[in-house]
Amino acid sequence: MNLLIMGLPGAGKGTQAAKLVENYGLAHISTGDMFRAAIANETELGLLAKSYMDGGNLVPDEVTNGIVKERLAQDDIKEKGFLLDGYPRTLEQAHALDQNLADLGINLDGVINIEIDPSKLLERLSGRIIHKQTGETFHKVFNPPAGDYNEDDYYQREDDKPESVARRLEVNIAQGQPILDHYRAKNLVQDIEGDQDIELVFEDLKKAIESLKS
Ligand code: ADP
Ligand code: AMP
Repeated sequence: MNLLIMGLPGAGKGTQAAKLVENYGLAHISTGDMFRAAIANETELGLLAKSYMDGGNLVPDEVTNGIVKERLAQDDIKEKGFLLDGYPRTLEQAHALDQNLADLGINLDGVINIEIDPSKLLERLSGRIIHKQTGETFHKVFNPPAGDYNEDDYYQREDDKPESVARRLEVNIAQGQPILDHYRAKNLVQDIEGDQDIELVFEDLKKAIESLKS
C-alpha cells in the first residue's frame, strides 16, 4: 500500500506515521526527517536545507523533489509500500510526485488528511520534544515520556520556536489547500479528525485504510 499523510505542522503526522509504519510495515519517507539527518551529518544538502528550515520556509522544490525521487527508486519501496510524510507540500511537488510514480509504475492508494484547527497547533509545537537517541516524538503535556524522564535526553526542534512557527503555519496553510484539491479530484483523500486522543486518531486512521483496501 502506498500512502501520503498530510496535515498542518503539529497535526500529528509523524506521531501517526510511526504507528502506521509499525502496523503495516510500510517504508516511512519523511522529508523533514531526511533534511534533519542531513543537517546532523553536516552535508551540503543539510547546510542548504537549514537556511530555509530555520526561518520556517520550504526547501526549494527541485531539491526536495530530487531527494524523494531518489528514495522512491530504492528496492524496498515496491516490496513494502510507502508512507510519505510531509511531502508533497506544494502543487509543483504533487505534480512531480505523480510523474515520478507513473515512471516507476507505482500507484498511489490514498491520501490521509489529518484535520485540525490551526489555533490548536501552537501548543502542540511548543510542547513537542524529541528523544535524542531514538528520534521518537513526545509532548510535554499531551504525550509525555513514561515515568520520571530526564529532560536532557530530549531536544526541542529549532523550527518549533515561536519565531519560526507563525511563518511555518502561514506557508503550509497557503500551500496545502491546492494539494488537497488535486487529490480530492482523484478521489483519494480520507479526512481524519486530528483533535482527539492519539489512540483515537489511530483507530480512525486504521478504519480509513481498511476502507481503501476494500
Ligand atoms: P507533525 O508531524 O504533523 O508536525 P507531530 O506528530 O510531531 O506532528 O505532533 C506534534 C506534537 O503534538 C507532538 O509533540 C506530539 O506528541 C503531539 N501530538 C500528536 N498528536 C496528538 C494528539 N492527537 N493530541 C495531542 N497531542 C498530539
Ligand atoms: P516537517 O518535519 O515535516 O515539519 O518539516 C520541517 C521543515 O523541513 C519544513 O518546515 C521545511 O522547511 C522542510 N521541509 C520538509 N518537507 C518539505 C517539503 N516537502 N518541501 C519543502 N520543504 C520541506
